[in-house]
Amino acid sequence: MSLAASSLSSLRRQLTAGEISARDIVEDVIVQVSARDGNIGAFLSHDPEAALAAADQADLSLPLGGLPIGIKDNINVLGQPCTCASKFLKDAFTSPYDATAISKLKAAGAIPFGRTNLDEFAMGYSTENSGLQTTQNPAAPGHIPGGSSGGSAAAVAANLIPATLGSDTGGSIRQPASHCGVVGLKPSYGRISRYGLVAFGSSLDQIGPLTQTVEDSALLLNALAGLDPRDSTSLNDPVPDYTEGLDQGVAGMKLGLPKEYFTDGICPKVRERVESVAKKLESQGAEIVEISLPHTEYAVATYYIIAPAEASSNLSRFDGVRYGNRTENPEDMLALYKDSREAGFGPEVKRRIILGTYVLSSGYYDAYYLRAQKVRTLIRRDFEEAFQKVDAILTPVAPETAPKMGTASEDPLKHYLADIFTISANLAGNCGISVPLEPIDGLPVGLQILGPHLGEQTILRCASAVEKS
Ligand code: GLN
Repeated sequence: MSLAASSLSSLRRQLTAGEISARDIVEDVIVQVSARDGNIGAFLSHDPEAALAAADQADLSLPLGGLPIGIKDNINVLGQPCTCASKFLKDAFTSPYDATAISKLKAAGAIPFGRTNLDEFAMGYSTENSGLQTTQNPAAPGHIPGGSSGGSAAAVAANLIPATLGSDTGGSIRQPASHCGVVGLKPSYGRISRYGLVAFGSSLDQIGPLTQTVEDSALLLNALAGLDPRDSTSLNDPVPDYTEGLDQGVAGMKLGLPKEYFTDGICPKVRERVESVAKKLESQGAEIVEISLPHTEYAVATYYIIAPAEASSNLSRFDGVRYGNRTENPEDMLALYKDSREAGFGPEVKRRIILGTYVLSSGYYDAYYLRAQKVRTLIRRDFEEAFQKVDAILTPVAPETAPKMGTASEDPLKHYLADIFTISANLAGNCGISVPLEPIDGLPVGLQILGPHLGEQTILRCASAVEKS
């Protein structure tokens, strides 16, 4: 097995035993990316020299010493481009600082490697909204890798690199993880600092890891979690060792199956996979109970008001003056803004800005935005009540396996609806993980395990039991 195809934990063992060097790993990642990424398109750019230099300096005594991690191209890495897969930022921006997630990775000894593709500004579920390139699903060529962290998921699935970071506003880590067959963790809101993550929906966004194994996910969370004075929404709660207790199994755990998630809209084979893994966990001593999340049917509508509202405000900074490519010879100041934004943003981003501006406008604020905030509270309460009864919740990640490329853009509403199982966790601020199950007709499929706020240890333990069985 090539080094790039190994898990972080196994590379760590080999590094500390002196069997390999950090340079060996980075060299193999560079070889894999240059030999095979042309057909996959997971990386938008990478800097081999910088990565090799970092490998030679790596402190192997640190928890992630010498391990390369791919970075979604909406997270700032000092001295590297940060395009958000947008023409607006292509060749127009070099990060003047590290996101806190990146400085924490570096402090743990890891080597940020390359920039992975995404739906433009993380808006989408297929990575086809990237303004810069397409990404194939390595596990199922011709199918979408999922999104928006499609490049991050594809890079791990194709064994180009052992692990990557993504961001999840409404499912963008868990859904591509499910479609590509890797592990994807969305931590609770506030668990990881958002400082240096290009904001999409600030009340929803979280950075998280995509990995081959649950243990690697825990290893990365150990390094990434914690309070950051630069992000006032980051939490001061203690950071446990998330790798501890992974092997404890699910005996005695109460796991909920929400009845609203198992309706007609879901592909029967996906449903069957989730139900059969629930049976397996039951045979290992978990108690499976049916629960209700009664406001589930409003989640998509609520999210597609709140997320675009926040996006329309966050994206106002891209105007061709301070950020982004500037139009040439504008007639006046207003034309400079308008023409730069018209040329820079792709269609999905424009759609979100228009939608968000509309729901925030004075005549419609109460009817849409304020009402969506109220429904958001109801959705959060649903989870609070459910977690009084169960330790974690089992659901599909997406209603079906990865669709064929080219089908997602036909009907935006259809693709918004496919987010139904993932966005509630963002609206509620809870954590969730996607862990691979047995593929369906050759296509990967993930189980989503949802936990309460700061319930990462519980869902990691449960995910580890699923992984083993
Ligand atoms: N698919 C969702 C959207 O398009 C989620 C995106 C995300 O989590 N970044 O908004």
